[in-house]
Formats: sequence, structure tokens, C-alpha cells
Amino acid sequence: METKYIFVTGGVASSLGKGIIAASIGKLLQARGYNITIQKFDPYINVDPGTLNPYEHGECYVTDDGQETDLDLGHYERFTGIQTSRNNNITTGRIYQNVINKERRGDYLGKTVQVVPHITDEIKRCMLLNGKKFHYDFVITEVGGTVGDIESLPFLEAIRQLKWELGSDALCVHLTYVPYLSAAKELKTKPTQHSVKELQSVGIQPDILVLRTEHDLSMTLRRKVANFCNVSPEAVVQSLDQPTIYEVPLRMQEQGLDSTILKKMGVAVGETPGLGPWRSFLERRHKAEQTVQIGLVGKYDLQDAYKSILESLSQAGTYNDYKVKAVFINSEKITPENVAEQLDQMDGIVICPGFGQRGIEGKIEAAHYCRTHQIPTFGICLGMQMMCVEFARNVLGYADANSLEIDPTTSHNVIDIMEAQKNITNMGGTMRLGGYNCLLKDGSHVREIYGKEEIRERHRHRYEFNNDYLAEYEQNGMHGVGVNPESNLVEVVEIAEHPWYIGTQFHPEYTSTVLHPHPLFLSFVKAAIEHK
Ligand code: GLN
Repeated sequence: METKYIFVTGGVASSLGKGIIAASIGKLLQARGYNITIQKFDPYINVDPGTLNPYEHGECYVTDDGQETDLDLGHYERFTGIQTSRNNNITTGRIYQNVINKERRGDYLGKTVQVVPHITDEIKRCMLLNGKKFHYDFVITEVGGTVGDIESLPFLEAIRQLKWELGSDALCVHLTYVPYLSAAKELKTKPTQHSVKELQSVGIQPDILVLRTEHDLSMTLRRKVANFCNVSPEAVVQSLDQPTIYEVPLRMQEQGLDSTILKKMGVAVGETPGLGPWRSFLERRHKAEQTVQIGLVGKYDLQDAYKSILESLSQAGTYNDYKVKAVFINSEKITPENVAEQLDQMDGIVICPGFGQRGIEGKIEAAHYCRTHQIPTFGICLGMQMMCVEFARNVLGYADANSLEIDPTTSHNVIDIMEAQKNITNMGGTMRLGGYNCLLKDGSHVREIYGKEEIRERHRHRYEFNNDYLAEYEQNGMHGVGVNPESNLVEVVEIAEHPWYIGTQFHPEYTSTVLHPHPLFLSFVKAAIEHK
């Protein structure tokens, strides 16, 4: 069949869960046997989110092909198990960069280069690219931001044109918000009506409306919205708050969101898929009664900064029949005096990834406490590096040991800058990024956890373990148990004489999905439960 394009836009407010709706639509169509992909177009000028501070933008998610992307791509992969790529997240910055490069090359043959048609044509080209290249049945495109923003306009114009050109092969799902005014005890549809008017004013008639709400919306209310907004009543779907985001596909399926999409796009609806494994996951999740507490030692005290880690932990909790309670522990506030008090209540500790000086000593302090108190500990990227620094200081006896990132003058640079990174001055997209193979040593704990020798995991860093010190580490009980076969870089360290003390230079959290939870997280949460 010809590739069909579903656009997901949002109105009224941000943070309504557009990414979850896009991921759910993908999940439901995939469950019907269709080959799908999900992509995100973001209206900001950064070429990619790699240079953005997590406070601005939450976690930066990394694809296997090494693109730094929006965290919504993490939801797409966790929901559907698909692999996204650099073509799945495009920003205004990337679009302009492409257009300006073409202009400099002379591709526009002397024409004046303008937002319409040149920017909008480039947006359209990128929106269609995945479909053209890989012949997906459905390409779902989420557009970041909210309708009415100045910077969204070129994207909406591109969607308007594509809807016109593709006819029933293109469709727009618009997500809005229905607030409840407690003083009046009423749900209000006016913001939705305004938001749809805003879309209509740029020439887009939404085909389906998803109404985010905290209260059940009556049929009368939904019919009213349908009536005011020119959509059919069955095309008004509610998205009520759920105990977990993983419930959303089921709620959408119950309301026939996927079958309405198929009907509107002229595709035979067929049988409703049972979503068996997904339901079993949810059932197990709800049955779990006991809680395991995991401390996240990091410097970003906001949920979104460690999104994939939180999701990986909670998935692993479900498969261990436990609820995971993740507790944020600000590494800037950890001192030798209070470390015991801060960490003792935890069943396991994750030392989080990060960049720069702030909060570093707290991470080292936490690593020290966990290593010497048998607390299951998982160090990820910067976390792994700080495990190594702590070991060098307190076991190898190098008091000034550090990462060159933190102390460029240290005489014991146990974490060194990678050769390939030394002369880099351009910060955007130049780290060691994306999937690399790694060989696990026979007899190691990680080898047993993965159950295989060769693994592939995603990276995002400039610094690495300094192999000059490896022999000394190994003589003293910390082993380099995962090594990159081409570069010989140490990718995993562990202490065998500890219940669970593993650090990974890569980010396993990027590949844990609902139906395929990551073995390291499964094993770590299990160890934390045993430690209780
Ligand atoms: N800042 C460290 C490096 O660049 C670690 C990065 C990370 O934790 N992702 O090597």
C-alpha cells in the first residue's frame, strides 16, 4: 500500500502528552501488522537538542545511528520496539541548515530563497523522507510546540500542503485540553474550539480530536465538540489521566482511535488485535504490591532529565513484580558527613550521567559509600567514570585522581579525553555517539547478566577510561569486563567482590522497552530487591 501520513499536532497547552498519543497510535497500528515509524519535528532553532541543557529540554535521547534527539523518540521506541534514526527528529535549525547549504551551493539557481516555498518544501521533503526510503505503511509525525506559536507556522503550512496533495493518505490528529473549573463544577470546551479555529485559520481541518482531561467527558460533551469543530462524533476521543502512560494505547483502542484512523484513510479495518503481551505487562505492573526504593544520584532535579532511566527502572520493577520508587538525591548536597543518612534508606543506587563539574564530588562520595557498604550500584556514563575516580583515590591511593573533564591538571587522569576528541572545538553532534559493539569477558558478572558475549549499546560522551591504569585496577579488584573490539576502549567495569557494582560507559537506558526490558536494569533491580 502507499505510505500513509498521520500528523499529530497540539493546542491549548504544552505537556499534554502528544508524544504518548503518537507512540500509542504507532503501537496500535503496528499491532494490526502494519510497518510503522514515528518521527518528531521540533520548531526550535538548535540543529539538534544535543547542546540543550536538560533544564531546558529534559533528557537528550540518542538513536543507534548516533543522532541526539528529543526525548519523545524514547517513548516511540519503548512503546513499539522500532529503531528510530537521524531522520526521525528534525528541528527548524536542521531545516534552515539544509536550505542554507543548498543556497550556498547554488542549488536555487539565483532565486530569492524564502520561507514559502523553500523552507516549507524542505520540511515537506523531510516529512516524506522516511516513507519514501523505507516504504512504511504509516509514518506518524508529531509536531512539537502548540498551534498558534509563531515558529510552528512553516510546519503547519507544510502539513496543509501535504494534506491537500495526499488526500486521504494524510490525516491530522489534534490534541487539546479540556479544563475543569472547580468553582463552576464544569468542564470547558471553549479552549478546544479556539484551538481548532486556530488550526483552521492556517488551512488545516483536523480529522480527529483527542481531548486531554482529568475528568470523564460525557457523550453529550463530545458530540458538542464534534459539532463545533467539524469532525465526526466517533472522531472525538478522550485522553483521561492514567496511572501509567502504558495504559494509553489500551484506552485509545477502546475508543476506536486506530479503527477511526483506518476508516478515514480508506484502509480495511479488520479484526481488533488483542495486545496480549502488552496487557500481561500491565497486569503484572498492577499486581506488584511491594516497593523497592532506588536512589538516583544526579544534579538535575527534574523528572524529564533522566526519563529513560526512570522508565527502564520501572519496567524492570514490573518484570521483578515490584513497584520501583525512584528517589532523586541531589549530588551537590552529598557530603562525607551526610552520605550515610542520604543513601541508607535506598535499596539500590544509580549514579547518573551528566556533564561538567557541578555535583561531581557528591557522586564520588556516593560511589565510595555504596562500594564500601555493599549497596547495589549502577553507574551510567559519568556515573561509571566517577566509580573509577573513587576507586583510584581510595583503593589505588591516588588522592588527586580525576577525569580530565573535571580537573585538567590532575596527575592521575584515570578518565582521559578520547584521542578523537582532542582537537574538537565544535560542540554540536561531535561526541562519541550512537551504537557500538562491545565484547564481554567470560566469567564476568555482566557476561552472565547479558547471557552473551557480543552486545551493542549506545554512547554519548567525550571521555573514556584510561587504559594505562587498567592493570592496576584489575590487580585491586575492579575489572574492565566489557571492551570495544575495534578501539579497545573499556566500556564496562565491575567489582566481583560486591553484590552488584557495575559501571557502563554506554547508556543501556536507551534500549529498554516495555516488551524487551534491558537485562542490566532487570538484574540491578533484582539485586536491589535482594538487598532490602
Ligand atoms: N561528561 C562525560 C563525558 O563526556 C560523561 C557523559 C555522560 O554521562 N553522558 O565523557
